Order: sequence, then structure tokens, then C-alpha cells
Amino acid sequence: MKCLQNRDGLKSVKRMVVKIGTKSLTTNGKLDVKKVSKLVNDVMEVRRLKREVLVVTSGAIGAGMGRLGIVSRPRKLSELQAVAAVGQSLLMQTYERFFSRWKQPVAQMLLSAEDFTNATRYRNFKNTLSTLLRWGVVPIINENDTVATEEIMVGDNDLLSAYVAKGAKADLLVLLSDVDGVYVKRGRERKRLSLVERVTPQLERTAFRTSKKFGGMFTKIQAARMASEAGIAVVIAHSRHPHVLKSILKGEEVGTLFLPRVD
Ligand code: GLU
Repeated sequence: MKCLQNRDGLKSVKRMVVKIGTKSLTTNGKLDVKKVSKLVNDVMEVRRLKREVLVVTSGAIGAGMGRLGIVSRPRKLSELQAVAAVGQSLLMQTYERFFSRWKQPVAQMLLSAEDFTNATRYRNFKNTLSTLLRWGVVPIINENDTVATEEIMVGDNDLLSAYVAKGAKADLLVLLSDVDGVYVKRGRERKRLSLVERVTPQLERTAFRTSKKFGGMFTKIQAARMASEAGIAVVIAHSRHPHVLKSILKGEEVGTLFLPRVD
């Protein structure tokens, strides 16, 4: 998709990765089935356009906390991992339930950093992925939280989705969250950037200032830089936007588009 130069180019996307953040799936610390159902419908709109979709989803920890009635996020790693183990199955069960309404098969893929650095594991991941896509399955991917300690973590799911998009040779990565895109200050006003041609250090600094370390705009911009440098277009958009994925593929003015680098 290196030739993509504007939003019109998004109409020819064939394979896309959609990253869904925890806030797009939960309300008041619990998995929100209405939100899941809305996003599943959005993915199905893309499937009906005969495009391939991979989902990278967060929400295991959020769903696990809700299930166990834990109000504040545990600090101990082993507890976080245990919470994720509870939440991951609930998360998958919920996706399975909504996708099966459309008779759409899904697959769970849990990955850790090693799967991208070890050549054999990376090859296996890519082979499984291409088989699933050939069979018309929607892969639903998350970090394998129960084994990913800080030292061997991919980072967060924004970065994971960029690695997945590269491995899958996707044309487009969509990062869905609770922000409409990238905002910059123009005088007294904040303005959404519609198009970013290149992620500059200045843009990274702005994002860093306005963001918490993980899961905020900073890691989204890093993920956008990684993917766009690999020739993949990236859109950061609000998950609440009606028909968000279809609108993006129609070239509509949604979120912030990062153009793929051509050099
Ligand atoms: N893997 C974590 C979860 O499913 C989320 C990590 C992230 O959002 O970056 O809860």
C-alpha cells in the first residue's frame, strides 16, 4: 500500500488490522456487551466488503477485574496475569457470541514478544495466520499476558498491533480508542490532524506531553510510526464513530490518517 497518498487510497485496502482498546470495550470496569456488539458489527461490515480483517484486542485485564469484582487494577504482576487469565476467556466468549450471530468463525491467537523475535515461532505465527485468513476466519489477537513479564512484553497492544500488521503484511492498521485522532494546539484551539505525512520527533514530543506512558497517544504514535515506516497506512479513530471501519474504507474524513512511507 506504499502508493497510498490520500484518503481515497483507503478504498483499495485488502487486508486490515483493527486494534481495539480496553476503553472501547468496557464501561465502569466491566465488559460492555453493547460496545462489543457494535464493534463486531463494524468488523462484519468490512467482511461483507470482502476485505480481510484481523482484530488485536485489549480488555482481558478489564474484563477479568469486572468478573472478579476487583475495583482497582492490581499492582502485583502475578495478580495482573491471573486477572488477565480470567478475563481473556470471558473476552473470547463474548466475541464468539457476537460473531457467531453472523456465522463468522473467529480464532484466538495469544502472542508474546518471543513470537516476533524467534524466527521459527515467527514463521509459525505467519503460517497459521495466512491459513486462517484463507479460510475466512477472523483472528482475534491479544498479548499472552499470563506469561509476558515486563522484560519479555511486546509493550502494549498498540505496539503489538503494529508488529501484527507487519507480520500479516496488512495494508492498513486502524487503532480504535476513546480519542478522535491526534490533536495539536493551534493558538488557543485544539485541532484534529486529518493527515500526517511523517511522524516527526516534534509530533512524538507533543504526544508524549499529553499522554500517559502506556496506552495513551504516545504509544499510538509510536505504533503509527513503526507501521507507516513499514509501508502500512494507519488511522487513529474513535471506536464510537458509527460504521467507523466502513467509513474509513470509503475514504471519509474519520480520525487521523498516517500515510505509509514510500522510501
Ligand atoms: N493485554 C492487555 C489486556 O488485554 C492490554 C494491554 C494494552 O491494552 O496495551 O488487558
